[in-house]
Amino acid sequence: MKRSPVLRLKRGRERVRSHPWIFKGDVADVTDVAPGAAVTVVDSGGRFVGRGDYNPRAGLCCRILTWADEPLDTAFLERRLAEARARRAPGDAASLPALGRLVWSEADGLPGLVVDRYGPVLVVQCGTLGMAQRRREIESALERVLGELPVFNKDEDGPARLEGFEPAQGWAGRAGPAAVEVDEDGVRFAVTLGVGHKTGLYLDQRANRCRVAGLAANRDVLDAFCYTGGFACHALRGGARRAVLIESSPEALAGARQNLALNGVAERAEIVATNAFDELRRLERAGARFGVVVLDPPPFARSRTRLDAAVRGYKEINLRAMRLLERGGSLLTFSCSHHVSEARFEELCRDAAADTGARLRLVAPLAQASDHPAILTIPETRYLKGLHLEAM
Ligand code: SAH
Repeated sequence: MKRSPVLRLKRGRERVRSHPWIFKGDVADVTDVAPGAAVTVVDSGGRFVGRGDYNPRAGLCCRILTWADEPLDTAFLERRLAEARARRAPGDAASLPALGRLVWSEADGLPGLVVDRYGPVLVVQCGTLGMAQRRREIESALERVLGELPVFNKDEDGPARLEGFEPAQGWAGRAGPAAVEVDEDGVRFAVTLGVGHKTGLYLDQRANRCRVAGLAANRDVLDAFCYTGGFACHALRGGARRAVLIESSPEALAGARQNLALNGVAERAEIVATNAFDELRRLERAGARFGVVVLDPPPFARSRTRLDAAVRGYKEINLRAMRLLERGGSLLTFSCSHHVSEARFEELCRDAAADTGARLRLVAPLAQASDHPAILTIPETRYLKGLHLEAM
């Protein structure tokens, strides 16, 4: 085996044994290493800790891929992909879900790599230079582990800029269909490859959308921050009388219109293309009431320094949503920012309830779908949290 370059940690920085992130401040020294290449991480005494991808450009300069003394080669990639697949399809490859996340970065032992399946197509997202440099290897490993599905690359600009690589957009090899229609528990969604947020859909909300379907019969439903109308489509297919969708992005709303039509529920939907903060305030003033309210805002806190402002924003929308609930009505409220802990989120909801004088039963805590696993020692993997509350 070719000896890989070595990154030596400062004394006392061995917490990386349970968390894969190494920041520049953790590093004592690094031997000569090309950006994106693999390094062997050792503790201050020179003992082996793990092996990871190194990128001197980023503050988070190394992510550990393995804590075993093994090479980060094609066989390693294949093993990790096979494990990720087995986690989601304990039977054979044929039992693999046709829609959902197949590989989720740190949570699947492959920091910087996301693979989602949309029916006949795989969407791959590389978020680190190391993964971007392995792209060809990933593609052929995916083919061996998952079979021959066309691969669409959809890197996000932000991480690519931070890590210093050109974000890939488009088919890896053989082109697949430009658009696909997927089935999420009986609801149809249209996905145009390369268009929209994430890899196309917010797959992490799947279980919560199903929960809303079960609550919606004969109710008026408010889907605030609706993106392409996922919650509203489930609610209307679940028998909701009416759904109001609030969203500020015209592209997202084009998708919502398409999905409402695809499910034959467009006549019962009302789209409000505006800032949700303003519309919630307006609805409150107008004395509107709903049997189900969904609040699924973007991460208001993208960094720790913005946390206070974010908490104020979350509190405001929750306060207004609580005032819009009819008696016995359900509020499903979320935060997808990992900087806002579950405890902090519950506390701000409690504050909002206290301010409105609302009495709310805590029906259930909510989380990301199970194909987005969370690792106990990597709190960042447990980013989506929510509460199902019921007005008493
Ligand atoms: N619930 C959706 C995902 C929502 S993502 C689903 O299940 O698919 C959050 C959405 O909020 C994004 O589509 C974003 O465009 C929208 N958004 C962000 N800020 C907004 C604002 N101030 N008012 C209305 N929509 C907003």
